[in-house]
Amino acid sequence: KAKALGGAGYQFFEPEMCTGAKRRLQLEAGLHRALEQRQFELVFQPRVDLGTLRVRGIEALLRWNHPELGRISPLEFIPLAEERGHIEAIGRWVLHEACRTASQLNARHGLALTVSVNVSARQLRSSALVDEVLAALAGSGLSPRLLELEITESALIEDMAQSEQILHRLKAAGVRLALDDFGTGYSSLSYLKRFPVDVLKLDRSFIGQDGADLQFVGALIAMAHALGLSVVAEGIETPAVMRSLQRGACDEGQGYLFARPLPLGDLEGYLAGAAAVMELAAA
Ligand code: C2E
Ligand code: MG
Ligand code: MG
Ligand code: MG
Repeated sequence: KAKALGGAGYQFFEPEMCTGAKRRLQLEAGLHRALEQRQFELVFQPRVDLGTLRVRGIEALLRWNHPELGRISPLEFIPLAEERGHIEAIGRWVLHEACRTASQLNARHGLALTVSVNVSARQLRSSALVDEVLAALAGSGLSPRLLELEITESALIEDMAQSEQILHRLKAAGVRLALDDFGTGYSSLSYLKRFPVDVLKLDRSFIGQDGADLQFVGALIAMAHALGLSVVAEGIETPAVMRSLQRGACDEGQGYLFARPLPLGDLEGYLAGAAAVMELAAA
């Protein structure tokens, strides 16, 4: 059939399509056993108070170390895992691992860092999520107020009534809720009123890297504050962007300027270094 499209098209497109389809099949096949073969790993990106520059929390970000293909981005495998019905099991592992790590990290260093966990649309479709969250908290001993779940707007609007009910049950359990990637979809402010969210996370694409759009971002931050939400900016890469967000009274920030997502050992080194810098600054 491809040949009917013409010789040149056939020659040019087929190898590429073939690689893409082959990779997809390989990933799909591998997803079945990735959990039991311990190929998943969490890395942690610090979240910084933009007023004091102290680390306030960490976001857990999933990585898949594929035996043949190397490290795979969650942007590539999470959609596959959702489609193929693996996301519940993977999401459960992420929740437990993130809570356990944060609880141990806090105990070891006398800290009270929040850990943020990304929850996919598919997980929000099932009320089993609430039980999983409670189990992860009980199993790790992490205080519910130190767990934050990050949910995207697109996940919320798939089934608003169901999402709303699940979010209220999670709130009742004492965990914090964040609306992730704000500024990438419809970004309707009405969701901020309807859903019981505590935190608004502004997407990197929304903030920009030149500080030019800051009037708009500043107005949005003011509105979020008026609604009682705290605001976190994602993807801060330059001091100029950090400063303009500070002027806009943005509460917290995350980005390569502060730290990339780090394996646990590197995170502990980073936290020790950050603490030392704060002490020097205070002296
Ligand atoms: P997200 O939750 O919006 O996470 C932020 C993404 O921005 C992360 O990409 C992070 O590494 C990246 N990032 C942070 N700072 C900067 C920066 O200064 N510049 C740039 N260019 N990028 C920055 P990552 O780790 O590849 O994750 C991508 C997405 O995959 C996440 O977006 C989240 O939606 C999803 N994801 C990651 N882990 C999980 C998970 O455990 N479960 C689910 N369901 N989704 C996950
Ligand atoms: Mg996130
Ligand atoms: Mg985000
Ligand atoms: Mg994002």
